[in-house]
Amino acid sequence: MSELTRLSLSDAVSRLRNRDISSVELTRAYLDQIAALEPTIHAFITVTADRALADAARADQQRANGDDRPLLGVPLAIKDVLSTTGVQTTCGSKILAGYTPVFTATAVKRLEDAGMVLLGKTNMDEFAMGSSTENSAYGVTRNPWNLDRVPGGSSGGSAAAVAAGMAAGAIGTDTGGSIRQPASLTGLVGLKPSYGRVSRYGLVAFGSSLDCPGPLTRTVEDAARLLGIMAGHDPLDSTSMPVEVPDYVAALNGDVKGLRVGVPKQYFIKGTQPEVDATVHAAIEQLRALGAEIIEIDMPHTDYSLPVYYIIAPAEASANLARYDGIRFGARVDKGDMWDTYKATRGEGFGPEVKRRIMLGTYALSAGYYDAYYGKAQQVRTLIKQDFDKAFERVDVIAAPTSPNTAFKLGENVNDPLSMYLEDVFTLPASLAGVPGLNVPCGFDSQGLPIGMQLFAPAFREDVLLRAGHAYQQSTEWHKRSAQVKI
Ligand code: GLN
Repeated sequence: MSELTRLSLSDAVSRLRNRDISSVELTRAYLDQIAALEPTIHAFITVTADRALADAARADQQRANGDDRPLLGVPLAIKDVLSTTGVQTTCGSKILAGYTPVFTATAVKRLEDAGMVLLGKTNMDEFAMGSSTENSAYGVTRNPWNLDRVPGGSSGGSAAAVAAGMAAGAIGTDTGGSIRQPASLTGLVGLKPSYGRVSRYGLVAFGSSLDCPGPLTRTVEDAARLLGIMAGHDPLDSTSMPVEVPDYVAALNGDVKGLRVGVPKQYFIKGTQPEVDATVHAAIEQLRALGAEIIEIDMPHTDYSLPVYYIIAPAEASANLARYDGIRFGARVDKGDMWDTYKATRGEGFGPEVKRRIMLGTYALSAGYYDAYYGKAQQVRTLIKQDFDKAFERVDVIAAPTSPNTAFKLGENVNDPLSMYLEDVFTLPASLAGVPGLNVPCGFDSQGLPIGMQLFAPAFREDVLLRAGHAYQQSTEWHKRSAQVKI
């Protein structure tokens, strides 16, 4: 393995800037790593090797001509839910096999404009529904720390790619935890921005009031860099907010003295793996040692997040997925007759979890049940958001575990949807409230599997979130350990 594949994105940027390395060298190192590990890990659905090398050569040429864009020549991987012109975008589903978009998602476009080199599109749970990447129609992804374990999901391919040194950083999407949870299970930094901070244009929709693109990286500084490039208002997405984007890297002053950190008792509960509980408590003590003030807080509606999310997300999904009918969108399974074609297209194109969500969502939205389920869930969502509003009157950030368990075994939860849904218990509230959440590695369990701490901040205060996460990370060594993949 080339030591180049262990660099943080920020270190890669400075080595490229100083001309210590070329983009072609760096891109080759990642492509070699992909060639060696991809048969075992399976982080990608599509690898764009030729295009990556051509883009890298062009980036080197541009640098020689004085170009110094922030990501010039930096190789990244993108979750296969984000549209990329000319590169197949499957969303982990058979129904989108062979679909090649004619436009590029704004979040990706901004990275391209900043000079990134696209290594490929990463594996994911079908339509981003899942917590283990086992729901992909393109096979499972393995956790680089332990090949019998899941990498988390739904952005498990993006997480595994970075953790295994197959990309300098990756982009995922988070609807209910799909960036933070895989980051936690693979020892990475994962940032779900505030809802509306990063454009959803070109992101294949799952839950439109919840979906957020964001980075998975080795360090908080790397995440700050990528967010700064992707964030900001986009006229093509009416829910993207016209809020100024601060310089997130400049916000990383390493200082948390006097920062008020809220610790909600509802996130430290029975059922969590004891090592996770203890390790996150130790991380909070570390923040105290750095000068933060630790304050116990109450978020009484936390428990309702799981039932509320599993009404709202499937409801929105059922509406969003109606377009895959084999006529307007989706790979058609032609049966001559319209209804038979429709049934066969959706019957063969969607996997079991997607069908389950469509049924749940359609039921929750149907006449007679709408008020009892969807309407009620929206009301309780407001109460969950108010828990955050009240907490942020007293504290600057909130600290909690990201996932109740470290990486579980492949196959362990596949046939039990409820236990799979329970893996999201700590990530769902921030998604429903629209506030940003950050996973920072904070230790390992007795089996050597990574543990993550989750931090929340008020909407559009990613600067505070990143500052807290960075200060913590600077005082620890967890992020410096790399997975040793045994092939
Ligand atoms: N695991 C959650 C779900 O299955 C969240 C997924 C996501 O954030 N995309 O819906």
